[in-house]
Amino acid sequence: MSRNIMELCWTQIEELDKEKTVMMIGIAPIEEHGRHLPTGVDVYETKHWIESSITKLENSFPEYTFLTMPMLPFGHGDIRGFVGNIHLSQKLIYQIVLEMLGGIAEWGIKNIVIISGHADPKHLIAIEQACDEINKIYQDVSFAPMGAIFSQDNITLDFKDDSNQLVKEKLGKYPNDFHGGWIETSNMLDICPGLVNDNYGNLPDISINEMEMIQPEIVSSKIKGQGHIGYPKESTMELGQVLNENMAERIKICVEAYLIRKDYKKYLHHKLYNIPALKVQGGK
Ligand SMILES: [Zn+2]
Repeated sequence: MSRNIMELCWTQIEELDKEKTVMMIGIAPIEEHGRHLPTGVDVYETKHWIESSITKLENSFPEYTFLTMPMLPFGHGDIRGFVGNIHLSQKLIYQIVLEMLGGIAEWGIKNIVIISGHADPKHLIAIEQACDEINKIYQDVSFAPMGAIFSQDNITLDFKDDSNQLVKEKLGKYPNDFHGGWIETSNMLDICPGLVNDNYGNLPDISINEMEMIQPEIVSSKIKGQGHIGYPKESTMELGQVLNENMAERIKICVEAYLIRKDYKKYLHHKLYNIPALKVQGGK
């Protein structure tokens, strides 16, 4: 069963079986995504992935209650030189998540999952650090698998049909499609096609590699006047359907492992988690 926490009174929350309650929280920023996509891309993606992974999880855990709440439209980011960005400091993201988790853990809920469609490593690492802190006090009550999902290849999906093959080929041909490129544009063509501007077919390819991505000056100069990183003109709604389905499946696999507390620790951290410069300064 899934319930929006805003529709419950506190006595209903108190009556929940806390061991079998999962609080799903989405946090992703308002941020420019090029000349063809709305600023809410990461928020729409996060909401969509939470809803579709809950549908899958309800099948595997029929006796559990999945709680949702409004998306938190906040994130840390380093894209500069555009209007439309609301970026908070990494420390503030850490602090928001830490205090929110602390409050929810006090209700007695034993499973709090944080999902974010915003793939900035410092944003995801801040969330993971907050979870690590809370988990020291409340015994593994929180879990944030998106760093692992975005950065690691250890979540293998069954490639059942040709459409998945299409995504694989596209990833090979058009890699490093980090921001508003064919991946996010395709995702949005599936989630909310009315919000995608038709001009995506005419936008230039902007290629930035993984190492350049963590250097804001390089990113800013390469995307100047455009705002996307990747290959928007390669987008299709069909690709978006497969990508969104794969993401929901990956989230399901990770959350499933977490709920049964089996082999889930490999999903706790982004692969760059141990780089000191990417951590919250003053966090632990
Ligand atoms: Zn995005």
